[in-house]
Amino acid sequence: MKVQAYAAHKAKGELKSFEYELAALKHDEVAIEVTYCGLCHSDLSMLDNDWRITSYPFVPGHEIVGKIIELGSHVRHLKVGQSVGVGWNVASCLTCDECMSGNHNLCNSVRPTIIGRYGGFGNRVKAQSSWVFPLPEGMDDSKAGPLFCGGITVFSPLLQHHISPLHSVGVIGIGGLGHLALAFLKAWGCEVTAFSTSPEKEEEARKLGAHHFVSTHDKDALKKLSGRFDMVLDTVSADLDWNGYLKTLKANGVFHIVGVAGSVNARAGNLMGKKRVISASPTGSPSEIRQMLQFAARHKVEPMVEAFRMSEVNEAMEKLRNGKPRYRIVLEVD
Ligand code: NAP
Ligand code: ZN
Repeated sequence: MKVQAYAAHKAKGELKSFEYELAALKHDEVAIEVTYCGLCHSDLSMLDNDWRITSYPFVPGHEIVGKIIELGSHVRHLKVGQSVGVGWNVASCLTCDECMSGNHNLCNSVRPTIIGRYGGFGNRVKAQSSWVFPLPEGMDDSKAGPLFCGGITVFSPLLQHHISPLHSVGVIGIGGLGHLALAFLKAWGCEVTAFSTSPEKEEEARKLGAHHFVSTHDKDALKKLSGRFDMVLDTVSADLDWNGYLKTLKANGVFHIVGVAGSVNARAGNLMGKKRVISASPTGSPSEIRQMLQFAARHKVEPMVEAFRMSEVNEAMEKLRNGKPRYRIVLEVD
């Protein structure tokens, strides 16, 4: 089966038409005709080889939505023609302790969709059936893609840290991940505060779910919020005032990192005195993804999307590079 995709041949290179042969399906795999694919900042970091792990030709895309066109011989729980999504991972070993305890995303041999293989910026893709998720009834295919990376990445910390409707949560960075975090937290019932470098996002952040909006250009902003939050969720790929944010946490509060920054510079004293915790997580497990989809469908949590044709992928990448999307770009296969 041939795939018509878009690939870059060098770091920061233009994405150009690229054809490759999809390997025959293994017994537990599923082939998908891609209809839409979201554009995540991790696609851009991989394109630029920021993490020194990109191989070229590089086909980005890990917020995939499409229809199943073929099932491996052992796949029973999915159907040809079904609308499904695939996110950051396409396979895991299914036998290690992490997989056997439901934490497949922590498996040593977990296979990310765009590392060492071709991703979803093309008309077809395949994945192990345990990483392929039917869209809930009524979910809009054109908006579902971003839930499979951005959405699950900000939803999983709510489960990990047992966030309750009584909690007050801050979200740093109102981009693809951050805007979904605001929407999930609002539906979850929390008091929600958005931290942003972009004051012009205030009105939309409030509509998305923020009760409070803090412009981080205000140098005293963090001091005024001392001891305020149960969790602060960092969705930014840049260095922050780590110690300033730690002090905004209550006793036992959690600073949870999902944005990929270089290093965290935290004073031990800012953790110790109030038993504060720093944690981080990679996307989510299959079971968490299913729970996230059900919650999103029930509470009508969906991304704010900017639509591009897949053939406009280079313009879309440029828009993301300039920090302009409001708030997630989704490419539609031409
Ligand atoms: P995005 O759409 O580009 O949004 C990032 C937001 O961060 C921007 O909209 C901006 O929000 C803020 N920001 C940008 N530069 C900043 C700076 N220098 N200082 C402070 N804030 C800044 O990116 P995304 O797709 O949401 O991804 C965010 C990060 O999460 C990336 O590092 C990505 O690789 C990572 N990621 C991690 C996982 C995981 O599994 N842990 C999964 C997906 C993505 P404001 O304008 O509001 O300040
Ligand atoms: Zn992503």
